[in-house]
Amino acid sequence: MNFDALVIGAGPIGSYLASQLVSKGYSVLVIEKRSSLGGPVCCTGLIGRECLEMLGPSATVIRELNGARIFSPSGKALDVSRPTPQAYLIDRGALDLNLALQAQQDGASYIFGSQVLGLEINNDGARARVWNKGGAFEIEARVVIIASGFGSKLTSRLGLGRVGDFAIGAQALVESEVGEVEVYPSDRISPGLFGWLVPERAGRALVGLLAKREPLRRLSAFMDELEMKGKIGSPVIKPMSRGLSLKPLPRTYSGPIIVVGDAAGQNKPTTGGGLFFGLLGAQIASEVVPSYLEGKIASLSVYEKRWHERLSGEIRKARAGRFVYEKMSDRQRDRLFYIINRSNFIDQLEHDESLSFDWHGRVILKLLFSLAPWSFIRKE
Ligand SMILES: Cc1cc2nc3c(=O)[nH]c(=O)nc-3n(C[C@H](O)[C@H](O)[C@H](O)COP(=O)(O)OP(=O)(O)OC[C@H]3O[C@@H](n4cnc5c(N)ncnc54)[C@H](O)[C@@H]3O)c2cc1C
Repeated sequence: MNFDALVIGAGPIGSYLASQLVSKGYSVLVIEKRSSLGGPVCCTGLIGRECLEMLGPSATVIRELNGARIFSPSGKALDVSRPTPQAYLIDRGALDLNLALQAQQDGASYIFGSQVLGLEINNDGARARVWNKGGAFEIEARVVIIASGFGSKLTSRLGLGRVGDFAIGAQALVESEVGEVEVYPSDRISPGLFGWLVPERAGRALVGLLAKREPLRRLSAFMDELEMKGKIGSPVIKPMSRGLSLKPLPRTYSGPIIVVGDAAGQNKPTTGGGLFFGLLGAQIASEVVPSYLEGKIASLSVYEKRWHERLSGEIRKARAGRFVYEKMSDRQRDRLFYIINRSNFIDQLEHDESLSFDWHGRVILKLLFSLAPWSFIRKE
């Protein structure tokens, strides 16, 4: 089988890119190891307005969210909200399915229940070795797009390096009457990272955390704590966990092969959220790949250059913010909360229209430069 483009992985980023390429007239095959889409996915599904606009009708909005309540390690609440929706909770399982259906409707071919085990570059493009229950087979394509999510062995085998910083996200769907997003930045919940409680459909919420180690044990302790406070009840869907990149892959192309989405580490280093940055990476790929296929550019290095131009500044700011946050103790975080409460910082956030859920960098710079949290970071 020969295609212009082979996409490995029918996650949201792979299917979005497949749709874009097939709409431009190229033959596209998507290979997915799951046997079907639409089931629960370990993802909260919180996105900003720009991301929602990119996804269009494929995103089913469950809830509009105007703000969040952030709890200091000692339990003091800080409310940040605006009169209009700032973020949207979407049905993540449905998103994967809708994007794949859209790509198929546009003309992309899909093979489910099949895993790409290896890639070999040849004169005309690349050859993929695929395995499924029926046995092994090969597929050739002029361009191969690795959209296989976090921790793909395909990228390390190609010599593209490894993601240098990552966390594991764990999450459960539980009974809860909580009405707004709650964020818990505390080492007690997860050292250097944070936990969350996000209202879902009526009477339910998503409870989760990011952790460097033991995510499921930490989530279970966090859930016990929230249950004792009367915030959550029994699990509706039991905890699941999955890795997340917090730093991009060192290289995201090799010959006729590129890497997009979580596989490329196109995630926000603050939260690990990867839907928006992954879609931006896919959008850039959908412009560069046709130029490569038409012979207008000689190398797919243009893809890497362009996505770095778009996202590197934001990623640097977010990593600086996380670096400062990680260095703080819970006592220092409590002090930061106290300083924020006494300043007009929240007021400024609420009135600055240029700040958005999609781009965290500006908020981080504002926080770092107006409150200088490093000034009270010291060894205790
Ligand atoms: C707990 C948690 C909460 C999160 N919350 C948010 C959030 O609120 N907002 C946000 O923006 N992001 C969030 N994320 C991150 C988000 O889920 C990812 O960024 C997003 O799924 C990336 O999409 P993707 O298409 O790159 O990869 P994936 O969604 O991982 O899809 C990759 C696909 O490739 C398939 N695959 C893998 N290997 C192969 C192979 N060899 N052959 C064939 N198929 C293969 C997989 O089965 C999968 O379907 C969260 C993540 C976690 C863990």
